[in-house]
Amino acid sequence: MQQTLSIIKPDAVKKGVVGKIIDRFESNGLRIAATKKLWLSKCEASKFYAVHKDRPFFNDLVEFMTSGPVVVMVLEGENAVVKNRELMGATDPKQAEKGTIRADFADSIDANAIHGSDSIENANIEIAFFFSKREIL
Ligand code: ATP
Ligand code: MG
Repeated sequence: MQQTLSIIKPDAVKKGVVGKIIDRFESNGLRIAATKKLWLSKCEASKFYAVHKDRPFFNDLVEFMTSGPVVVMVLEGENAVVKNRELMGATDPKQAEKGTIRADFADSIDANAIHGSDSIENANIEIAFFFSKREIL
């Protein structure tokens, strides 16, 4: 069993598609092991996306991630990291395969509906960023 971190981003929360996105996970063998809704501060969003701090889109990314509440989840299942990335689709929704979350719910590369950990190592770091051990069931 593997765990990964998912964030339903402010655009998707505003659109009211949290349930539809969670259904994609549960219908594809990923269990919700933990979840909470929160509004990230600039400091938290900058820390979470620190790997991108030198990229030209960093300030826009932080601005966007703090523009409204997000829903954060730990997903658990076989091969969860890769499976989640497949369900999400490509970063740019225009490039995302049909039937993926980003193809169906995202508007642009900035407002792209969802975040998912990109490796097992980062999944562990990102899960610990948001959840204590007793919040993961
Ligand atoms: P995420 O980390 O949010 O799951 P990702 O792993 O598909 O997305 P990353 O390369 O980690 O993509 O980029 C993080 C976020 O930064 C993307 O989700 C996107 O919103 C934004 N981003 C990435 N590349 C660009 C770009 N070239 N122009 C604008 N925004 C970008
Ligand atoms: Mg990423």
